[in-house]
Amino acid sequence: MMKVQFGDLAAKIKVVLRRILRVLLYVLIAFVAIVAMVIWFSGDDSYDGQLHDHVISDITELNPVPMANVIAPKSVDEVVAAIKASSGPISIGGGRFSMGGQTAIDNGLQLDMRDYDQVVDFSAADRWITVQSGMSWRELQEYIDPHGLSVKIMQTYANFSVGGSVSVNVHGRYIGHGPIISSVKELQLVLADGSVVQATRLENPHLFRAAIGGYGGIGVITEVTLELEKNEKVGRQTKVMPISEYREYFAENIRDDDQVIFHNGDIYPPDYEQVRDVSWYITDEPLTIDDRIIATDDSYFLLPKMIKFTNSGSFGKWFRGAVVDPLYYASDRVAWRNWEASYDVRELGEEDRSKVTWVLQEYFIPVENFDNFVPRMRAIFQEYEVDVVNVSIRHALPDHESYLSWARREVFAFVVYHSQGTTDEDKKKVGVWTRKMIDAIIEEDGAFYLPYQPHASVAQFRAAYPNAEKYFSVKREVDPDNRFQNKLWEKYFPTRRSRIRDYLDRLDGYKKGEEQTFLTLPEWYLVFQPNEYADYLERGNNPSNFPFFASIDEYWSLYDRVTVLTDGLYPENSEYKLMLWIIGVSTTAEFVAKSFYENTIGRLTRWTASEDTPEDVIIQEAHRAYGSLIYFEAWYKFPFMDYVGRIWSDTRFFGPNFTRKLERKLMFTGEFAFKALYAKLIGFGAETAYEESDGLVTMHIVADADSLTLIDSEITILKDFGDGDLIVTVPRWGGFTEVMPKLAAAGVQFIEISGNDEVVFSTVEHENAKAGPDKARFLFNSMVISPKNRKRSVYVVRVEDLDDALMSLQRNNIQLEHVFDF
Ligand SMILES: Cc1cc2nc3c(=O)[nH]c(=O)nc-3n(C[C@H](O)[C@H](O)[C@H](O)COP(=O)(O)OP(=O)(O)OC[C@H]3O[C@@H](n4cnc5c(N)ncnc54)[C@H](O)[C@@H]3O)c2cc1C
Repeated sequence: MMKVQFGDLAAKIKVVLRRILRVLLYVLIAFVAIVAMVIWFSGDDSYDGQLHDHVISDITELNPVPMANVIAPKSVDEVVAAIKASSGPISIGGGRFSMGGQTAIDNGLQLDMRDYDQVVDFSAADRWITVQSGMSWRELQEYIDPHGLSVKIMQTYANFSVGGSVSVNVHGRYIGHGPIISSVKELQLVLADGSVVQATRLENPHLFRAAIGGYGGIGVITEVTLELEKNEKVGRQTKVMPISEYREYFAENIRDDDQVIFHNGDIYPPDYEQVRDVSWYITDEPLTIDDRIIATDDSYFLLPKMIKFTNSGSFGKWFRGAVVDPLYYASDRVAWRNWEASYDVRELGEEDRSKVTWVLQEYFIPVENFDNFVPRMRAIFQEYEVDVVNVSIRHALPDHESYLSWARREVFAFVVYHSQGTTDEDKKKVGVWTRKMIDAIIEEDGAFYLPYQPHASVAQFRAAYPNAEKYFSVKREVDPDNRFQNKLWEKYFPTRRSRIRDYLDRLDGYKKGEEQTFLTLPEWYLVFQPNEYADYLERGNNPSNFPFFASIDEYWSLYDRVTVLTDGLYPENSEYKLMLWIIGVSTTAEFVAKSFYENTIGRLTRWTASEDTPEDVIIQEAHRAYGSLIYFEAWYKFPFMDYVGRIWSDTRFFGPNFTRKLERKLMFTGEFAFKALYAKLIGFGAETAYEESDGLVTMHIVADADSLTLIDSEITILKDFGDGDLIVTVPRWGGFTEVMPKLAAAGVQFIEISGNDEVVFSTVEHENAKAGPDKARFLFNSMVISPKNRKRSVYVVRVEDLDDALMSLQRNNIQLEHVFDF
């Protein structure tokens, strides 16, 4: 009987427990749904701000450079006028296919030459043509094809501009030729002083030799006269062989055969043991391709996908060598030379490159050192697991004319096409193995190519280009104020700044992503917001009236805005964004719960109380202390449990407004004990990350070294380059915001912070205030809950103008809230 009763009771308890669990589960589901909905409806979809009007990028999307202005001249006079009307740095853009910022410089003027594209003079009989430098090879081919003529030397693709190609001193797959300089008869140049000059081998030969392969550092090439060749029918022949046989095979079969027009040898990754010779011979065979030039409306659907597939892992690479290429090369092909020279870069694919991109590199090895270099290259690629799509071998005869010649002897070129990630970390990794490759090529007396990412150290550049000084002396003579600049010459043209640049580029941990100054905004809002909350409580406001949902909306609005500003302009920083999502979701959950609580139980107990209880006061103090600490330290370092202790020990248990007193105690204990636990949990992992960042910001400034420590004792000089150029460290976060105005007031000039030339800051002022800081670009306003009638304004400023902006704040009585370090 007893047994049956126990059984009944147990069953009843089970049912009740199950019901409670079910209710809890429903509550949890409802809570998660509410949080999700709140996030969904929060934010600022309408924000469409942009940081720069002129961002110059290239095909890799790795090097966006914000410029002050872009002008597209249509005549020499317009080029001259643009140079004379400006006073800052000028970069020159052709087709913009170079891959390392060679056409841009921060805050400079770009002369975009692409609309400057007419034929100036032409002799079909004597086979030469003079064109404006912005003309593309494709446009030139269309012009000369009806006359039975071809470009003598150009790259594999026809999208590039003539001016850009000459400035890089390009080469192609042609046999019996070297770099393009041998086919250039004459140049017209506009120099930094606005003068228009001609340059040939006899007239201004130093300009001819410096400007060809001069990467836009000497002047603007406005016209180019080129030798042309006969357009002929060419037939393709291919043969696969071990790479150990290639050099001899080439010498015996290809090098001196004047019937070979194009040749390249494709080396198959990941073993780099086999080469496929692909050569095009002059032929009388009937055409298999009737088009004279590749049609512009050709579909580029399959080929990019095939390239992507054959690059995807070892299977794809094996499949290419074993299946795709044998099938592709199985049939005979006879085409016009102009057809074979008119490929479009679209065949490489036009898909999203925000996370993974495809880039080129090129190494030039003296022909006799070919067999030494191959195993070294193979070892580096394999050790660093470089995702190589293809290595194409080309051949070039020597160029003894250009000062920046990459073929001082007869060379084979190794054109390396590989994929890489787009983050700063990925770029660093590529930099490491690229410098290994460059060391290897220099030891074999070769050179590396300059239109790609400038990973080479300054010393490596000087070793590979031993005549660079001749080029630099011409540059100093015709461009004494260094008007013609770009990212390549910023690094390698020896100025005071480039020495510092080299030091900073090699300084471990110096470079931080510029996007971080924007992306830290939502995170910092969670520093500002607790202070607003503390302020709100201190002013005697009812905590139940605090607009928690508006705070949530503000967080997500800031997230949306900084995402709009940085997306596409900087490499994707998904790690940081994920962190913003994690703290955003947890903050939303916290505020939703808090709002619900304060508007039910909290409101009720407040209604029963006649005044703020001592517990209310301790809660205010706790929030103020928390708000102050997190300006300078990580939030998880806050002593949550000390305040929980205080609310019990510093107040009496009984007293007036007892209900409110007890409710506040319990509510606060729950909230801060939970936070203490959470802080312990994530503190350990986060601590390691924070420790790694050492709590310091490194910057390049110009200042009087002796007076620096008088300004602030926490400033440390890392390196003194003389004449005021100093590399210093200052505290991060709140400390950074404190020290920067002091430095500005002392006349310190900021040059670069953590490798960046732009920085975000915010101010807080009366909502009707009109005045803003000098030289800064307004981005948006953000809500301030307390004190009332205030607004937060967010600005971005060039680091070089930060001193002026900060000083103008002091002058206009505007409160600097924060300078967002990286
Ligand atoms: C898919 C691909 C394939 C390639 N294949 C080859 C190849 O087979 N062989 C080879 O040699 N290279 C090759 N390259 C490299 C290419 O030749 C260079 O990047 C070349 O500069 C591209 O020409 P561009 O018109 O885009 O020049 P841009 O990138 O616009 O400019 C290159 C440089 O020339 C300067 N410049 C441009 N126009 C002028 C001007 N009018 N006056 C003065 N300076 C000027 C610029 O300031 C810049 O420093 C390849 C690049 C890509 C992306």
